[in-house]
Amino acid sequence: MITGKNYIGDLLSAKGKTKFKTINPELNSENETVFYEASEDEICQAAVLADEAFKIYSTIPDVKKAEFLEAIADEIEALGDVLLTTYIQESGLPAGRANGERARTTGQLRAFATMLKEGSWVEAIINKTEGKPDIRRIQIPIGPVVVFGASNFPLAFSTAGGDTASALAAGCPVIVKSHPLHAGTGELVASAIIKAAKRTEMPNGVFSNINSSGISVGKTLVEHPSIKAVGFTGSIKGGTALCKIAANRPVPIPVYAEMGSINPVLILPSALKSDSEKWATNYAASITAGTGQFCTNPGLILGVKSKELEDFITILALETDKLDPTCMLHPNIKRQYESLKSEVLEQEGYTKKTIVEKETKPNYALQSIITVDGDTFLKNRTFHKEVFGPFSVVVKCDDIQQLNEIILDLEGQLTGTVLNSDLKEYEDFKEVIENLKNKVGRLIFNNVPTGVEVCSGMTHGGPFPASSDSKFTSVGLTAIKRWVRPVTYQDWPDQLLPKALQDKNPLNINRTVNDIVTQNPI
Ligand code: NAP
Repeated sequence: MITGKNYIGDLLSAKGKTKFKTINPELNSENETVFYEASEDEICQAAVLADEAFKIYSTIPDVKKAEFLEAIADEIEALGDVLLTTYIQESGLPAGRANGERARTTGQLRAFATMLKEGSWVEAIINKTEGKPDIRRIQIPIGPVVVFGASNFPLAFSTAGGDTASALAAGCPVIVKSHPLHAGTGELVASAIIKAAKRTEMPNGVFSNINSSGISVGKTLVEHPSIKAVGFTGSIKGGTALCKIAANRPVPIPVYAEMGSINPVLILPSALKSDSEKWATNYAASITAGTGQFCTNPGLILGVKSKELEDFITILALETDKLDPTCMLHPNIKRQYESLKSEVLEQEGYTKKTIVEKETKPNYALQSIITVDGDTFLKNRTFHKEVFGPFSVVVKCDDIQQLNEIILDLEGQLTGTVLNSDLKEYEDFKEVIENLKNKVGRLIFNNVPTGVEVCSGMTHGGPFPASSDSKFTSVGLTAIKRWVRPVTYQDWPDQLLPKALQDKNPLNINRTVNDIVTQNPI
């Protein structure tokens, strides 16, 4: 059952005076539950409790933390249909997506559990050199972390999403600032985490869930001295505001923000010649997937002017037109989509290719494809902006040089894609592709950018403003690196060292003098 209250550790609490409700965007009406924004007192309690919990939780063996993560996954599944129904009521997303996102969320938790049991994530390094100090390095958790739930992923990037799973795996207590668009979904998942924490005997305060309907709660949390890092997925405006708050604290802390991206796609002449129809169909589906509300949505397609490019644009527009409009997450997100789209459509020098102008429900988004030539795109930065929704710009470049100029002019991106049907063509576009690589976190060959695999090799991040720190990823197992810092033990007695650094660890026995070793599993 949803109570509308905040979880301060395992205590349900509602001291704040501000109340709010979530919205069912499909029905365009309010859902029933009344939520209480957390008071300053509740925020401080959660932060102090997390600080206390850190002392115990940071020393808990990896196998126990793995049990906790697996228990969270089990408890989320045990919530059953009520979780899916609430998710759908609060997001307007379809049942298939709700199911898929739940599976992704529990899959992530279990993947981090497996990683903990394997052990090499601590990156133990042992330097034993005769006549020199004995130096051994290991990663340790940094302290309590605040996670901002994302509006567009009520499960996989929210309460028990990748940020929370990776921080808990690292040994950091987590306070989630629940996203107000899906506070009920957040509370249900929070209840599962609290149940799992009790069942596996984790310290109280290892997890709290805080509600808000305005930015002051998030600001207070980020400013609290007990908080040591922040995870965020959302807008460039929100992410950069939080980075500034964190940098201006007496003790600054890192904010790992995953923000906007238009995810450029280069369609090379060979792909236009051989696979135009396939890519047009796949890209119509990718641009409109999740009503375009994915950070990896392909918002920019680039090609060199030709008859084949014109044909591709025509099919892309036709295929996009064929699709029925779908519901956006919230009336505010729909308003923002319309406003950003209007700003672009008020510019000069573009051609609108799609004609979808069907009668539709209030929060449904009409998809749009426009084209501009390379000169116009270079001169007018409004065409470079992320329009969060089913919207994409196709740029017709004069030649490879202009394509290169455009790539060099782009801001940092989460992804860059190359569509090619003849590898011999690669040499002609080598410089362009090298320049694209330097702008992105993930370089894709012959696919669509939507769909982010959760695995060790994934990078979901990129140069600013795609993320606040391009050295890290928010998806995949290496997301844990955001919540740890290295510590070096010098000349410590073996039995007092962490297990992963001890000589008696079977994997360390055979090391000889002068060995410099990146540690294998303990
Ligand atoms: P948002 O406005 O960036 O907000 C995300 C979270 O950050 C919310 O919980 C919000 O708190 C908090 N926040 C924002 N600004 C803050 C500030 N100055 N100080 C403290 N906290 C702050 O994103 P959103 O609500 O998810 O969606 C709004 C727009 O963001 C969308 O229309 C879209 O354009 C963009 N967006 C982009 C992506 C992407 O992946 N590229 C994903 C989601 C959204 P409150 O909710 O309590 O105000």
